[in-house]
Amino acid sequence: MILTLKSPCSEQQLSRAQEKLDQLGLNSQAVKGAQGTLLIVLDDVSTLPTHFFGRIPGVDRVIRTQPQCSLVFKNGAGSIEMGARLTIGGTNRPVVIAGPCSVEGQSHVLQVARAVKDAGADMLRGGAFKPRTSPYDFQGLGKDGLKFLSEARTVTGLPVVSEVMSADHVEQAEPYVDMFQIGARNMYNYELLREVGRARRPVLLKRGMSSTLQELVNAAEYILLEGNMQVILCERGIRTFETHTRNTLDLSAVAALKAMTPLPVVVDPSHATGRPELIRPMSRAAIACGADGLLIEVHDNPCDALSDGEQAVTSTVLRDIIRDVHTIHEALRASDSASINNSQPSFTTNVAATAAV
Ligand code: PEP
Ligand code: MN
Repeated sequence: MILTLKSPCSEQQLSRAQEKLDQLGLNSQAVKGAQGTLLIVLDDVSTLPTHFFGRIPGVDRVIRTQPQCSLVFKNGAGSIEMGARLTIGGTNRPVVIAGPCSVEGQSHVLQVARAVKDAGADMLRGGAFKPRTSPYDFQGLGKDGLKFLSEARTVTGLPVVSEVMSADHVEQAEPYVDMFQIGARNMYNYELLREVGRARRPVLLKRGMSSTLQELVNAAEYILLEGNMQVILCERGIRTFETHTRNTLDLSAVAALKAMTPLPVVVDPSHATGRPELIRPMSRAAIACGADGLLIEVHDNPCDALSDGEQAVTSTVLRDIIRDVHTIHEALRASDSASINNSQPSFTTNVAATAAV
């Protein structure tokens, strides 16, 4: 961290600022230049808030040279094993997580699970607890829904992910799911983030509808702070002035988050667009810009779906999307290995560069 001191800066002001750092147990080095005086903090201050330093008398500006979400950057899992055969992130092939918005019944979720597996999906999604905008809409089957999901996993072998909205849901869901989903509406629910942080399941953390990328990374830091390093970030569209699509898919978030953190990043084109005809092109684009996977809502009969039927695709469309995913991934891999100048700056270099601007 670099502190720029107010100009002009007397010897006395400089030593007072240094004393303040000493009292905090922090070593510092003063640099006097023609344009002013800098104090460089030599210790790791990534867990200390910025205002802490901004309030030191004589300090004008605080420049972070290290990201504040230090656990995400240092300890975040770059790839996550889902059983022996599936890895999310790293250099592995992108994963496709597919299934209904809500678990609608025992035979229904099993039927969709079989269809998505047959289409080539790697994991099954399905909501048992549904965060609906209207309290009169279908709220999910709760614990029964979790049991039906888990039965579908036993039959198909697909690991399952399902949303939790409270500490009680985490406890109920833990025996039945392989991964917890934190929905967009709960990205700022810090108690819930801490709760899944204490659980022993990977977490699919969706970006809030109006959240910045830094806020999403901060939310991930809450989970890691409790000991759970296995977080997957999900871009699911943000609210903008555009009304043609349900949300606006921010694909720059994928490349940016991958540069900012080591965590896997997946894209949910279903909630991002709300339009079935856009799911395939946006899936292609997501893989092309480096997403580690996709989260797609699938229904055998979208018109009859109990939630989000207007954005669901059929398993026939899913099959085409999965073929695209493999084709694009292979093409990019070949192109990357053929590229002579294939040296992307690492995420740490990028963060340092950003901080220095
Ligand atoms: C969902 O995945 O069904 C869902 C409700 O998503 P989001 O939290 O992104 O709205
Ligand atoms: Mn949905």
